[in-house]
Amino acid sequence: MKYLSEYRDADIAKSLIARIKARATRRWTLMEVCGGQTHTIVRQGLDELLEGAVEMIHGPGCPVCVTPLEQIDKALAIAARPEVIFTSFGDMLRVPGSDCDLQQVRARGGAVRVVYSPLDALALAQQHLDKEVVFFAVGFETTAPANAMAVWRARDLGVKNFSVLVSHVTVPPAITAILESSDNRVQGFLAAGHVCAVMGWEEYEPIATKHRVPIIVTGFEPVDILEGIWMAVDQLEAGRHEVMNQYVRSVRRQGTPPARALVAQVFELADRQWRGIGEIPMSGLRLREEFAEYDAERKFGVGGLKVTEPADCRAGDVLTGRIKPPQCAAFGTICTPERPLGAPMVSTEGACSAYYNLAKYRATDAAEATS
Ligand code: SF4
Repeated sequence: MKYLSEYRDADIAKSLIARIKARATRRWTLMEVCGGQTHTIVRQGLDELLEGAVEMIHGPGCPVCVTPLEQIDKALAIAARPEVIFTSFGDMLRVPGSDCDLQQVRARGGAVRVVYSPLDALALAQQHLDKEVVFFAVGFETTAPANAMAVWRARDLGVKNFSVLVSHVTVPPAITAILESSDNRVQGFLAAGHVCAVMGWEEYEPIATKHRVPIIVTGFEPVDILEGIWMAVDQLEAGRHEVMNQYVRSVRRQGTPPARALVAQVFELADRQWRGIGEIPMSGLRLREEFAEYDAERKFGVGGLKVTEPADCRAGDVLTGRIKPPQCAAFGTICTPERPLGAPMVSTEGACSAYYNLAKYRATDAAEATS
């Protein structure tokens, strides 16, 4: 299969691992900023195969994981209202809020539905004019264009019973925050190919120059990731700090201009809380004032909620690469995919679920964590 099987080829992967190990004169620390990449790295054991040459740190690239508890609680409050049909991608249903999750709201009679696109939610609003249909708009730059499109079309069609609960975050400010933290160890980044397919990589260039880190736009298959690591290690060994594109089959420097333009028309930059990390200035998107009638937060008056994170969950340390999931004492003991304490154990892109789904971590590290 062109563009897929060759990126899963074991012989190509082995030769890349050999090249990286031969080039590395010391152990370099790299961060992948995408939960999908984290799952490939952990599932394929790439981190173990590169032992001694590269340490992979898993970054805050899971959109479900970084959605703040306050936004989850707002979603729960809105979803519990009798006049509301609350729609979301499936991953969000089991993310714990302060008291319960969206699945429990549904079990108690709330109209919570999984949709595959915000445009499906808009169609629901057109079919149920007696209800308020709300879509939970979470994610990075990748999902922002479709959410912007849904709001734009709602206004175009004059649909009044549709709104979005926005919790969008953007990647470059998070990379900057990690680099500027006092205990930063990251020397290079693999930037997520799908984010760059929308936004391009121009925003990364001043970050790479200022902080002297290579940033490699990288795809999601094992060979993509090993090529990205090779490009980063080669730069570090040569003392270079540039943005390079490994994912040439999908990403151009300017991204997708029509999608960027639509996002800029509907959303504006704003300070945003990241779950487990805290507020990062100008790291989020909110609806522009002219689209205020589509803002679920305003429509349902759910601002100003007070929330308390579970004390045992170290999601912030996991999401910033300070610890690996098995180093959390709750991992595999009081926190499992069946009874998650934090979002990284729920989401299909979460680092904790990536580790948990490997039996060796369930059997050994969880036992060590509690001994
Ligand atoms: S294992 Fe569970 S409790 Fe620990 S950081 Fe991950 S989600 Fe939080």
